[in-house]
Amino acid sequence: MSNPYQHGLDKQPANYSSLTPVSFLERSAHVYPDKVAVIDDDMVLTYRHFYRRCCSMASALSKIGISSDDTVSVLCFNSHELLESHYSIPMVGAVLNAVNTRVDAATLAFILQHGESRVLLYDTEFEPLVRQALATMESPPLLVAIVREGGALQAPEVLLYENMVAAGDPDFRWAKVADEWDAITLNYTSGTTGNPKGAVYHHRGAYLAAMSNAMAFNMGSGAVYLWTLPMFHCNGWCYTWAVTAVGGTHVCLRKVQAAAVLERIHKHGVTHMCGAPIVLNMLLNDFHNSGHTLQQPVQFGLGGAAPPSPVIGRARQVGFQITHLYGLTESYGPSAICVWHDEWDELPADELARKMARQGVGLLAIDALSVARLDDGTPAPADGQTLGELLIRGNTLMKGYLKNEPGTQEAFQDGWFHTGDIAVMHPDGYVEIKDRAKDIIISGGENISSQEIEEVLYSHPRVFEAAVVALADETWGEVPCAFVALKDEVQPNDEMEFIAFCKARMASFKAPKRIVFGELPKTSTGKIRKNILRDTLATKGSR
Ligand code: ADP
Repeated sequence: MSNPYQHGLDKQPANYSSLTPVSFLERSAHVYPDKVAVIDDDMVLTYRHFYRRCCSMASALSKIGISSDDTVSVLCFNSHELLESHYSIPMVGAVLNAVNTRVDAATLAFILQHGESRVLLYDTEFEPLVRQALATMESPPLLVAIVREGGALQAPEVLLYENMVAAGDPDFRWAKVADEWDAITLNYTSGTTGNPKGAVYHHRGAYLAAMSNAMAFNMGSGAVYLWTLPMFHCNGWCYTWAVTAVGGTHVCLRKVQAAAVLERIHKHGVTHMCGAPIVLNMLLNDFHNSGHTLQQPVQFGLGGAAPPSPVIGRARQVGFQITHLYGLTESYGPSAICVWHDEWDELPADELARKMARQGVGLLAIDALSVARLDDGTPAPADGQTLGELLIRGNTLMKGYLKNEPGTQEAFQDGWFHTGDIAVMHPDGYVEIKDRAKDIIISGGENISSQEIEEVLYSHPRVFEAAVVALADETWGEVPCAFVALKDEVQPNDEMEFIAFCKARMASFKAPKRIVFGELPKTSTGKIRKNILRDTLATKGSR
């Protein structure tokens, strides 16, 4: 018997088209033409204006020969130009490569060369860096300067961003990509171990990530989103598209400074923002010192590291409502969320913080999270104890790493994406990251989670920031060494006192054996660079 569902029910233009987040902008321009879409230092754009500028830039890119699968790199801060690039570049089927603004010239040259960039759009504040990087390249990309705040001297062969927009066609008819699996962006990992890897995202994944992130954050058209998270980081966790999808307002921010953040929150009625715990911690400290509180609650999407309990507590006092998110460059940013349950409202602060510190469950576009035992790779029991590698599968995982098949295969073994993060599965099905595989400390054959020690250190009222890494030890193989930034001056007996503080709160073998005081090195997204701390220990020891 023939299957009736297999005849005459085919895909056709009326009932099927490729998913692309570019369509969010077209729709919001139709629904909210006069609503403010983007607020930046030098311009305020309505949705109509935002859309027309993107169409103009897309036509200008197409005029200079940019089309399907060409890479266009952008090196600039969180500004309307970088936001526009999230639409104009995919409108012509090209691939956006938003570059980390903290890269050095050698890394920039590597990325441009490896990504085969045809065009580089850059903020003229980076003129010396760009010149230095391009000087080493055989076939450098065409330059498009974004001139803001005066800018530096430009050479005649450099195009100007605003001239391109002005000369472009605002009625340009862009077409959806034929296949939603086509590449939309190329995002390089930070490359803490060797050269950065280029994670390739597709239109479908970007569309789904934007939708599920908007839902995770309860965003509606009243959303006013402050850009404290770099847009170059996983395309701003896809909020570059999510905010537009709901018809919200993007508030740009070039540099994350507490005073500027506070000013924008109050002036524009910010409702949502994202960042690493360190960004939140910095804001809370400043708010505390200057006695500021928020006039209305602000949703804070916190990711990149687990929020230490005292940060959660202080954030709630100030008026930030925290959504804990977890993800990686390879998963379009957030892929797990610590979904809130109403009964948590009644929990005492400590217990609540323990619940919220968990990374949680998959976002909507994720099929499953699993924890695979470290010894044999079988699923770890949901006991909140057994350590294993966190695995993910779903529709918002990268296509793979550009020009790196072995790396892609390694990441996608056995039908799962391997995160390299060590987690436990709790009885309620929530996962909790205990460490990065490379951060776990193995002392006398026992696994010690660096995060567990950091959590204890953060509970000390004098600690501003803390990071724990392994220190080589003749007897134990490795022992924990803590790097601590204090809120006040270091005192002569501090090391002993902090070690005693830890010993009183955890199994003695887990307590740090050494404590080094001083400022901690960070990535552009505010994550502590443990690799640098490890290198310091390897070259100089802990003294
Ligand atoms: P990088 O590898 O350069 O730090 P990513 O942004 O891809 O860049 O980092 C992803 C990693 O950050 C994850 O593998 C995990 O170790 C860590 N991470 C992200 N979010 C969380 C979180 N909520 N809790 C704990 N760790 C997190």
